Amino acid sequence: MIVAQRKKIPEILEIVKEHKNVLVLGCGTCVTVCLAGGEREVSIISSALRIASKKSGKYIKFNEFTIERQCDNVFIEGAAEEIRKNDAVLSLGCGAGVQSIAERYPDKPVYAGLDTAFLGILESRGVWTEKCAQCGACLLADFGGICPVTRCAKHLLNGPCGGSREERCEISPDQPCAWQMIYKRLKDIGETDKINKLYPMKDWSKSLDGGCRIIIREDHRI
Ligand code: SF4
Ligand code: SF4
Repeated sequence: MIVAQRKKIPEILEIVKEHKNVLVLGCGTCVTVCLAGGEREVSIISSALRIASKKSGKYIKFNEFTIERQCDNVFIEGAAEEIRKNDAVLSLGCGAGVQSIAERYPDKPVYAGLDTAFLGILESRGVWTEKCAQCGACLLADFGGICPVTRCAKHLLNGPCGGSREERCEISPDQPCAWQMIYKRLKDIGETDKINKLYPMKDWSKSLDGGCRIIIREDHRI
């Protein structure tokens, strides 16, 4: 899922300071799971913003609404009336959600209330870790399901850097060495022969191609 975290209240207040009525718009999917932008967070952030704006002497009315997914026009439509009634939208969706709303309402200022961080998983209560850099050409089949692009600090595809000590990463000793994990995993599943495969430099053209990537599923088009 997409993992994001809330911007600080003073930063948000600075962003919306020119408006009188601001819709704090939550998203009920990824950012709800990572406790950044669901209905509960909309309520908490709106309350904090009301207090902060009152204290600043320039009162802004913050209205609350949450939809199922901000990155899907079908659900955005459900917020049409609320968006219309307010001067601006403070989206608590991920970057894709913010842009969806902005595209849908070209005359309405739409601001990001979250910092979108990465694609990751819930590791333990309150802890999320990055697992995929969305490179556009997945290599997991060769690496025992452990991504060296994301989890090796040097993004190495052909074995470890040699700096690992006691199975920790040379760059970030608080993290395990991704290549130690890859080797152990390949050994456990009987696929150590894959370690001998030599990879050329990663072809980033599938990812950083100077524009946004588009996936079209012809079988789903109407
Ligand atoms: S190889 Fe690429 S697509 Fe696959 S998990 Fe790693 S970054 Fe994500
Ligand atoms: S110690 Fe391991 S994870 Fe860290 S940079 Fe070197 S190979 Fe990558």
